[in-house]
Parts: sequence; structure tokens; C-alpha cells
Amino acid sequence: MLLERFFPDIYIRSVFEMPLAELKEKGIRALVFDIDNTIAPFDVAEPEESIVELFAMLRRQGFRLCILSNNTKERVHLFNRKLGVLAIHKSGKPGIKKLRRAMEIMGTTPESTALVGDQVFTDMWCGHRAGLTCIMTAPICNRDQLVTKVKRGAERQVMRIYFRKYGK
Ligand SMILES: [Mg+2]
Repeated sequence: MLLERFFPDIYIRSVFEMPLAELKEKGIRALVFDIDNTIAPFDVAEPEESIVELFAMLRRQGFRLCILSNNTKERVHLFNRKLGVLAIHKSGKPGIKKLRRAMEIMGTTPESTALVGDQVFTDMWCGHRAGLTCIMTAPICNRDQLVTKVKRGAERQVMRIYFRKYGK
């Protein structure tokens, strides 16, 4: 079905619910995170302590970590100050060039990498095009950049069909 390209492989309500054992079993060794409304509200400059701790825990568990955002250099670099992971700004999602570059730097492949994001037309589509496992979170808050806001209506339609099909 045409819509499948936008569907997540795994749906979670927040990044704190990632099925880490399942991911490891699948051979996932690296996680690529969207920032805005995935690990922080789009208008909050720095990560909460809980996110800093989550990243530290993931690193201890052996995951390579990356943040990949369509947002600006200033936004992404300031946000990464407390995380200190591979950080890529202006990533051009759903384009996959920067995502491929990120995997190259981390030394992982589409089979061993998962992408985590909150949007079907940017994050999920990008991840699927590059052949990654795609994990979708519910958006952290309902404030959105204008450019995102216009997509949310169509996004809800896609997710309605997804939930009807996979029943969550
Ligand atoms: Mg986002």
C-alpha cells in the first residue's frame, strides 16, 4: 500500500518507551534521533535532564547516538551541548543524503540503525527510503513550527489508518 512508506515499524508514546531489548535483538546498534517534538519541544533550547540521562544510559548500553534535524546549525549545536553526540543540522529529511552520511560516520548500516522521530512525512519516510527501522513517537507537545503545523492534519489521517490496521 502507498501509505506504508509513512508508517512506523514501531510506535511508542515517548522516547522513554523504546523497546531496547527488541532493538538489540534485531541487531540495532545505533539510534538517530529527530530533535523537535521528539526529544524536546521545538521552542525549548536545551534538553531536559531526563533526556541527558536517557542518552547517557543508551550510550552505556552500547548504542551509537546521533541527532539529525532539519533545524538550523544554532539550534542543533546549542541543543547538543549537553548531549555531545554526532549532531547534524539542516538534514533535509525526507532526503536521505545526510542520514547516510551519519551512518557512515557511526560505522553502521541501515540494518543496524534505527531512526526515531515524530513526523510521518519527514522522519518515517526518510528512514524507510534509506532502509532503516523507523520508530515513531507521539509529539512531545502540541506546539509546532508553522511549517510542521500545516502537515499535522494529513499526518493524523495517516496515523488513523495505521492504528486501524495495527490496532494500538
Ligand atoms: Mg520533529
